[in-house]
This record gives sequence, C-alpha cells and structure tokens, in this order.
Amino acid sequence: METLVLKFGGAAFSKAVDFASIADIIIEHKKHTKNVVIVVSAMKDMTTALIELSKSVHPSPPKREQDMLVSVGERISMSLLAMALHVKGVNAVSFTGSQSGIITNTDHASALIQDVKPYRIQEELVRGNVVIVAGFQGMSVDKEITTLGRGGSDTTAVALGVALDAGEVIFYKDVLGVYKKDPKEYANLMPISYLHYIDALAIVRTGAQILHSRALVLAEKNHIPLLVTSFKTRGEGFSGTQIGSSMQRDVQCKYYELQSVKVACPASH
Ligand code: ASP
Ligand code: MG
Repeated sequence: METLVLKFGGAAFSKAVDFASIADIIIEHKKHTKNVVIVVSAMKDMTTALIELSKSVHPSPPKREQDMLVSVGERISMSLLAMALHVKGVNAVSFTGSQSGIITNTDHASALIQDVKPYRIQEELVRGNVVIVAGFQGMSVDKEITTLGRGGSDTTAVALGVALDAGEVIFYKDVLGVYKKDPKEYANLMPISYLHYIDALAIVRTGAQILHSRALVLAEKNHIPLLVTSFKTRGEGFSGTQIGSSMQRDVQCKYYELQSVKVACPASH
C-alpha cells in the first residue's frame, strides 16, 4: 500500500512513555508503506480538562476562543509524537489542522470539513518524512482556527485518507476491534471481523464509542476502507475489524462533509 493513515486517540497517550510505544507501531508500518500519515487526538482527558479550565474563567466561553484553547491539546500530542520518532532515528514532522489544509465552515466547536488541500503533507511525504497531523481541528473559510466537535479526530483521519488516496485508514484503539456490545461490560465477547459501513453506523448509534458517526458517514461516501485494531496487543490472532463495502473507490471523486454524493461528482454518477 502506497499511503496509509493511522489514527491514535487519547487513550493511546495517557503518559509520556506512551509516545515511544506508539512510535514503534508507526515504525513497523513505515517498513512496508512509503507514505505514512498519523492523526492524533489530545492526551487522555486533556480536552475535557481544557474545557473545564475555560469554564472556570468564563461561565459561557466564547466559541472562537474555546477553539483556540482546545486545539492546543492535539498540538501537544503531535509534537511529542514527532519527538518520540526523532529519538528513534525516524524523520517526522507535525502539522496543525490549518497547516494540513483542512478547510472547514465557520461553525466554531462543531465545524464541518468542506475541503482538504494537503499540499504541505504531500511535500513532506515526498521527502520521506512521517507526517503527524493534529486531529479535531481545521481552519475556517474565514481563516479562523476551528474544531470539529468532541471525538472529531476520527473524521480528520477519514478526510485525510480521502484527500491522500490512502489505501486504508487504521484506527488504533484500546480494544481489539468492533463488538456487537460493549466488551468492557460483557465478558467473553468476540470482536467482529468485517462490517459494512451501515452496520458499523448502527452499532455506533446505540452509543458505542468505537468511531465517530461522522467519520463513518464520510468513509461510506468515499468507499474508503477502515480498520479498527488495538494498540495494546499486536501480532497475535485477531487483527482487527474491517469496515467497508463492496463498492469500488473512485479516487477522482472526493467528497467531504459538505458535499453530497449526488452533486459533487456528476461525471461518474
Ligand atoms: N480531543 C478531542 C476530544 O476529546 C477530539 C478527539 O478526541 O477526537 O473530543
Ligand atoms: Mg479525545
């Protein structure tokens, strides 16, 4: 596979040493894949802590300023992960959402992605660098920093997968894959090997925190294959839940959140 997008959520970064173990997973992928792009969330509980902090200063924080504040969480993860890769001798560069060309509408705290212009990412990939992108954030058409809403990094990962024609977007989680019910509540459940986007969405809509529904909707629009797997256990038995459909991906047609499938690419539909 030429290009892979790997997404690591907050659970992957609870403490400083976690950055080194996630770096090892990335290095493994880089051995087999030319272009490796990473999307990160803020460290565990950091976004919630930043929101609480803002509320201790202002009872109802202005959304623009709150976006400026919470977008910092992902910047911390991206830069520390780049440093962890540097320590291991791997060239990596981190980018904010705006540097990555993630263009959103102007709805602060719940922005929708309307386009992705990943020029700087592509330049760095050509140079052989691993590129690390701050999830959950973008730049509005008014050139303001926006965030996508809680859990938004999943959507960033899929949008970048679409923009970069990635063969797959892999979500590294603290569970082995997707389950029909919450594996933390029901013992002995087996994860599912394959799910259609629609079935994955149905599971998410029951409240399961596997992937953000917006990420699944975006993946289905573009028929981009997803894999949900664990950052904890590797190389043994179950390799994760694949999410996809039998439809072929058409990389000429890229749909983001504000384009409907019907209007965006009329030539081939
Ligand atoms: N850090 C943000 C949040 O906690 C975005 C994400 O995790 O996807 O909501
Ligand atoms: Mg988070």
